[in-house]
Amino acid sequence: MSVDNYIGLFFSLLDGEEVQYFLKNDGCNVLADKYILASVFVYFLRAKLTEDEYNLRNFFLALYLCHEICEEIDEYKDEIVDYYLNIRRLFPPSTNQHFQKFMEDRFLFLKRMCYKGHIHRKLCEKLFILFPHVVWNRTRPLQHGGAHRCLPSCKQCL
Ligand SMILES: [Zn+2]
Repeated sequence: MSVDNYIGLFFSLLDGEEVQYFLKNDGCNVLADKYILASVFVYFLRAKLTEDEYNLRNFFLALYLCHEICEEIDEYKDEIVDYYLNIRRLFPPSTNQHFQKFMEDRFLFLKRMCYKGHIHRKLCEKLFILFPHVVWNRTRPLQHGGAHRCLPSCKQCL
């Protein structure tokens, strides 16, 4: 399979009902803007995911890792896990158990990427040009722009 095939799988995942639900609720694109989503795709490639592994679980694992490595707001990571558990209806009684499993799996994912988590902005921008998709319209409002160096003060999202 080529990158064209893999991005097709990735877009299908993004277009699916569950990811769409998540994206629609992320009003300011702070959990998943275009750079983060492009990074998630690069993570998928680095981890050499098979066709079957282009699934919701790996999407949220990679998204979490991306926030852990490239962003600085812990609350966003908590929200990502909450979304995943909620979408999968994995909330109580065993939330803690599912949370721990998620943490373990996200470490295994990182290991599959040979611990290479850094992404160059230019690589993302190349993907935007090579593979047009509506999801690349997800930019952050100015108050959330760039790397997060301080807590958000935006009332629209958090
Ligand atoms: Zn906001």
